[in-house]
Amino acid sequence: MINKGDDPSLAAIADIYAETFARLDPTRGSPDINVRFYPYIDINHTIRVRNGKVFVRIAEICHDMPIEAHRSLANILVRKLLRKKLSPDAEKPYSDYIRSVEVRERADESKRSRGRKVVTDPKGQVYDLNEIFDTINFWYFGGKLEKPVLTWSPRKSYHILGHHDSTHNTISVSRSLDSKGVPLFVVEYVLFHEMLHIAHPAVHHNGRRYHHTSAFRRDERRFAHFNEAEKWIENNVWKLRRAAKKR
Ligand SMILES: [Zn+2]
Repeated sequence: MINKGDDPSLAAIADIYAETFARLDPTRGSPDINVRFYPYIDINHTIRVRNGKVFVRIAEICHDMPIEAHRSLANILVRKLLRKKLSPDAEKPYSDYIRSVEVRERADESKRSRGRKVVTDPKGQVYDLNEIFDTINFWYFGGKLEKPVLTWSPRKSYHILGHHDSTHNTISVSRSLDSKGVPLFVVEYVLFHEMLHIAHPAVHHNGRRYHHTSAFRRDERRFAHFNEAEKWIENNVWKLRRAAKKR
């Protein structure tokens, strides 16, 4: 699906990473690189080395990102891996793109909700976010997390499954998950992830904001159905989206 139109292919993106490695670490030959788009809960990308091979996972929402933004993201991720400092200039094409995506998503939401009251009822057709919050809070946070405003997103987003807005103290979960076809542990996992954003506020370092710190990642793995939930999202979000498109 990423080969349509002018979107760069996975091979072209992998080449960008190879060039970035060669430029930032010329003493080492450029490694084998595997790039995939991945349906993360929110806007998030990871880079890992396993058996001498580099695995890059890019948030699915960036599937139609232009090539300059990919170059900029490669620079961010490879520098992070090599523990090199980043200049704000180098980050700009990527952060501009992300800002435009966020603006687009918000514009879509307000277009859809114009002329009618925005429903912020945490009780969906299948799942009640209030109830789920209380359960997760009890088991994983000792009941100590203060309840934010909980809401289902007005729009059924398949790109962003959850969002924590610290300015408005709100957690929203994509309405696409309020469905009988989605297991409870998946909704719990998405809400748990967003609750971790409250427990682990963003960390500022070298002029950058880190939302998914290593402490965040460690805590995320405490979720009882972590592997199942990750696997479910990886295998099923595409299907949900395809089914919705057909309707
Ligand atoms: Zn997150």
